Amino acid sequence: MQTSPSRTAHWQSLDVHHHMHPFTDHVELANEKPMVIERAEGVYIYDSEGRQLLDGMAGLWCVNVGYGREEIVDAVARQMRQLPFYNTFFKTTTPAALELAHKLSTLTPEGIDYFFFSNSGSEANDTNIRLAQSYWQLLGRPERKVIISRNNAYHGSTIAAASLTGMASMHDIPACPIDGIVHIANPDWYACAQDMTEDEYGLQTAQALEAKVLELGAENIAAFFAEPIQGAGGVIVAPKTYWPEIQRICRKYDILLVVDEVITGFGRTGAWFGAQTFGIQPDLMTLAKGLSSGYLPISASGVSERVAKVLRSKPGRFPHGYTYSGHPAAAAAALKNIEIMERERLVQQVGERTGPCFQNALARLLDHPMVGHVRGHGLMACVVFSPDKTRRAAFNPLGGFATKVRNHCFANGLVTRAVGDGLVFAPPLVITEAQIGELVHKLRKSLDEVL
Ligand code: PLP
Repeated sequence: MQTSPSRTAHWQSLDVHHHMHPFTDHVELANEKPMVIERAEGVYIYDSEGRQLLDGMAGLWCVNVGYGREEIVDAVARQMRQLPFYNTFFKTTTPAALELAHKLSTLTPEGIDYFFFSNSGSEANDTNIRLAQSYWQLLGRPERKVIISRNNAYHGSTIAAASLTGMASMHDIPACPIDGIVHIANPDWYACAQDMTEDEYGLQTAQALEAKVLELGAENIAAFFAEPIQGAGGVIVAPKTYWPEIQRICRKYDILLVVDEVITGFGRTGAWFGAQTFGIQPDLMTLAKGLSSGYLPISASGVSERVAKVLRSKPGRFPHGYTYSGHPAAAAAALKNIEIMERERLVQQVGERTGPCFQNALARLLDHPMVGHVRGHGLMACVVFSPDKTRRAAFNPLGGFATKVRNHCFANGLVTRAVGDGLVFAPPLVITEAQIGELVHKLRKSLDEVL
């Protein structure tokens, strides 16, 4: 049997020679070498050197029920023995996909009763673009095809989802962005609005949607896409005036409201969905990540009665789908995942106990000279650093300081991610109050080391 260091070296060598990573600078990686994650349990992951790290990111905002859930493994194994795969194309279906669609209809906001399955958040957003445009086409309004999204949004990395994404770096290839997707301001009060209250800024940024609608003509617009809280963009929580105004504008101009709940769904904000936390009534929803807690890839578009009625009542085929739409093993994983969340009352726990505990514990870091802002909701948060808190000054070059703190966090056994001048956190929903204490202690220690 090989010893641990040589196993690590072996995998790192395979990585260098054969593996291309998503969202990675391979030149940097060649010097730093990847950390090889071998196993996990609860809220902890373990690397190939046996080091334990508290996973402050739930994998990639997704392992909501935590690691090591034998029940999910068993449910998937049972499903695979019985029916490892069958498609839901044309006129066939499977019990697992149907049971999952039904279960989701009991959890999502009122009126979202139909579900179209995909494999990833990006694919579900592509599906939602098609659903929104097909809806208007079938109503005899094909010119209603423009999609509005927001700066700094992250909606995925297929060509359409990357176009929907409002990050310049994602548009840095000739194929992106595709035509017909426009972006408006996002409500990042801390970064953009020193001179007005949060409520004023929330209203002002929501009204950017109305201004864009008037500029382009409501008769040309299919849908507005937004995350209830921008996640990968730095956990930007909208001021409380924002969502009611967005809802009003969408209703007034008859624009479909699509909420991308890939991160905010399945308990992350202390309700089943961010739409419920912020009182949003969507026409379409994008679900992924926490749907199966990442145990297998699966995503879904939640479709309202309004949209489904049109798509399901007109003759003709909706020309869209993936071989693995509604994959039975992934659906079985999702069903068991939801059963665990319900049985352990994880959503209520986040809403009532661990969410407030997490936000309060992080807010106490505001006494640190380098912490300028702490924001979040439930079990998602961003701690923003500033060299001059009173002016909300940014670091130069952007992101350097946060990356250093992130590296110290890793060394101290805590996984987090640097976004601009901040660190983002989204631990598994099973995190305890004691583990929240451990997370914040490791973060403060890392921050002190960099200072
Ligand atoms: N939408 C949101 C809000 C996301 O955060 C992500 C991924 O982080 C996606 C969509 C894309 O999901 P996937 O990576 O599964 O394609």
